[in-house]
Amino acid sequence: MATGTFKETDIRPSHIMDGQMVHIEADRNRLLQFKDRFEFVACPACAEEMASEAFVKNGLSYVTCKCCETLYINPRPTPEILEYCYSHSEVYDYWNQHVFPAAEEARREKIFQPRAKKVAEFCKRLGINHPALMEVGAAYGTFCEEARRSGVFRRIVAVEPTPALAQTLRDKGFEVAESCVEKVAIENASLDVIVSFEVIEHLFSPRDFFRKCAQMLSPGGILIVTCPNVKGFDILTLRELASSVDHEHLNYFHPSSLSLLAASCGLTPVESFTPGQLDAELVRKAILKGEFDASGQHFLKRVLIDEWDQFGQPFQQFLADHGLSSHLWLVARKNSVSGVRMHRLFIEQ
Ligand SMILES: [Zn+2]
Repeated sequence: MATGTFKETDIRPSHIMDGQMVHIEADRNRLLQFKDRFEFVACPACAEEMASEAFVKNGLSYVTCKCCETLYINPRPTPEILEYCYSHSEVYDYWNQHVFPAAEEARREKIFQPRAKKVAEFCKRLGINHPALMEVGAAYGTFCEEARRSGVFRRIVAVEPTPALAQTLRDKGFEVAESCVEKVAIENASLDVIVSFEVIEHLFSPRDFFRKCAQMLSPGGILIVTCPNVKGFDILTLRELASSVDHEHLNYFHPSSLSLLAASCGLTPVESFTPGQLDAELVRKAILKGEFDASGQHFLKRVLIDEWDQFGQPFQQFLADHGLSSHLWLVARKNSVSGVRMHRLFIEQ
């Protein structure tokens, strides 16, 4: 299930990534000034309220659900605070101006082309022909471009709340809903496929997002989401030191808890898998930088440092193949039962 082998620097050039540190801090401070207005929530996956403290990072409290082991920030910024912070984000500006342009072609080849191919394969496998596709959080439109190039989709709708990005998408010729997905209104929706890459970890209520997607999908249509996997190698090993544990990511699911959430919103999980390529490299980097102490971890030291050239890649492949990478995909299908029932009722009448 690999998406093609690549290194972190291919998709996030290090000299450019270093330049964003000051902006990350500014964004985080902007968020933290609203801390007294943060709200407590139940588990974003199973809705239970019993949770144990996991750790505090950068002034934010992370808790682990006692029922399903989802990790989440609690209390957390409200949707209004999030909207304000994202619309004033320096990091997003920086990515638009520096990271995306510098890494666009590498990201296209290493990330977006395999993604578009994989989404098309799922449609084919599940018998969804000439689907209408919607991408939530379409950003620069690179996935939409690859989806258009595939010729598989009869309609492509890009949902993007950031005005500058929405304009870029319109300039690229896409049908755009300039809105967050919770408020989106699509004419003649009947969507067959909704995709959303690395979005749900940012949301105040992933449940509202899943419900809204289930509402917009045609019966039998599929939702494909990606997000960090809290039970993957780099997050489970590094915990609060993991770079993906940051102030923007409020929710850290794992394959079972994400499936649970989908199922409770009328979506039947079809498949979850973890095609990540970066876990081993991220942990190795943390060890080499002295951020993570692996002095007592002889196995990790052997695989990730001493014999990296021999074991690094196959170890990463093992993680990816066994659901152990920290990059998670879920494919879930809208139940068509209600559709069948409606049909029967109609005939019986
Ligand atoms: Zn839970």
